[in-house]
Amino acid sequence: MFCCQDLGDAVDRGWFYRGSKHGIEDGRIVNDVDTEYYLRAASTRGYAYVGMNYCPFCGRAISLGLWAAEKKK
Ligand SMILES: [Zn+2]
Repeated sequence: MFCCQDLGDAVDRGWFYRGSKHGIEDGRIVNDVDTEYYLRAASTRGYAYVGMNYCPFCGRAISLGLWAAEKKK
């Protein structure tokens, strides 16, 4: 499911969120990346979700937007 075990573990720990942006109910998204992967950071109110184009561990492209762009090549 995940590009690497490190990201899977990070999601298990709650450091990262994987899923639809509509499923985020305890915080808000702070950038505009078309992805299912978000860094989840404690904020003054709830959490800040930072969308990611690339896995911070293995460096692979993980966002939906990038996958779509890759397929068009
Ligand atoms: Zn990875």
